[in-house]
Amino acid sequence: MNSVKPLSELTTIRVGGTPAEIFEAKTRDDLIEHTLGVWRSGEDWLVLGGGSNLVVSDDVENLRVIKVANLGIEPVRNRDESRVVVRVQAGESWDGFVAHTIAAGLAGIEAMSGIPGTVGAAPVQNIGAYGQELSDTMVRLEFLDYVTHEVAILEAKDLQFGYRDSAIKRGRPGVITWVEFELQNLDGLSRPLYSTQIAADLGVAMGAQVPLADVRNSVLKLRANKGMALSDADPDSVSCGSFFTNPIVSDKVARTLPEDAPRYENEEDDGLTVKLSAAWLIENAGIQKGYRIAGSKAAISSKHTLAIVNTGGATAEEILQLATYVQTRVSNKFAINLVPEPNLVGFSHA
Ligand SMILES: Cc1cc2nc3c(=O)[nH]c(=O)nc-3n(C[C@H](O)[C@H](O)[C@H](O)COP(=O)(O)OP(=O)(O)OC[C@H]3O[C@@H](n4cnc5c(N)ncnc54)[C@H](O)[C@@H]3O)c2cc1C
Repeated sequence: MNSVKPLSELTTIRVGGTPAEIFEAKTRDDLIEHTLGVWRSGEDWLVLGGGSNLVVSDDVENLRVIKVANLGIEPVRNRDESRVVVRVQAGESWDGFVAHTIAAGLAGIEAMSGIPGTVGAAPVQNIGAYGQELSDTMVRLEFLDYVTHEVAILEAKDLQFGYRDSAIKRGRPGVITWVEFELQNLDGLSRPLYSTQIAADLGVAMGAQVPLADVRNSVLKLRANKGMALSDADPDSVSCGSFFTNPIVSDKVARTLPEDAPRYENEEDDGLTVKLSAAWLIENAGIQKGYRIAGSKAAISSKHTLAIVNTGGATAEEILQLATYVQTRVSNKFAINLVPEPNLVGFSHA
């Protein structure tokens, strides 16, 4: 067993009490063996990666934490001359893996540069940014299933990916031990750009293919400007990134909003529903960047209305209080329910 730190030191929003145990699993076999032991004990448990999508209660003294720290990146097979399947152990840093693929000239995840956290957590909410999603390239993963206590190989289709969503997030508990991705060698170029922001920043047309490193540099810059890249120098990055997902609503509901409310076609259901901008809804419900409830150490980021920031010493309750306030304002003004993106752990009322 390792020393027990408060989870505020292991989560990017820096809240969370001290659990009963933190076990750091440095190999796949350790991860499986220890997790099975914890499950057999019947005690409360939490799988922890980089802690960048978690808000943990200040009171978690009975929780047993399994910190995923198994490392390794290896090509496992070549589909053909230009496509390679790479297996990545769950404890690898996501952004480290992206940098690795770019150095190797492999395209497919370059626009997801700078997303914090581990590779093992990435499928849980089907991470995505700037026109790419994990589900575009993930082939399969190894999963220790809480229900069966057995190891299974899950194919991408088994995970029923959606926008910031997967079968695991919706309630299939377990532990991902490794993940396989299929990446492409496009002679050092990116996949066709699907982000207006990257295209505008690089001065190229949508759909253009540009050197992989250019995409990475552009994304890292765009992220830093929004406080969406972890940095000790940026107090706005003491967050979970976006605190709310963009609501997906019927066309009928979308039509009740003012004309200038941004609407995006939801590709997942052939346009039957519409994706709205949570940031627009929050701003237009009257909550501005930098807002905080009087006396609270939780605030809206000064760079992006979607992020809730710990300005220093906030409690988990203060973070949730601000989140609830935002939800109430948006619901009162637009009758739309904002859904938190991070996983909330140990709150009886969450
Ligand atoms: C500044 C900032 C910017 C961000 N930008 C983005 C973005 O652009 N796009 C995006 O999608 N997300 C973004 N995020 C959210 C976050 O980075 C991702 O959700 C990331 O995948 C979380 O990884 P993690 O290792 O930190 O997971 P954790 O926070 O440790 O865990 C998240 C959840 O996954 C579970 N989990 C962790 N590891 C495993 C495993 N091996 N097996 C099973 N379950 C596991 C945990 O129990 C928990 O429920 C951002 C966060 C921050 C702080």
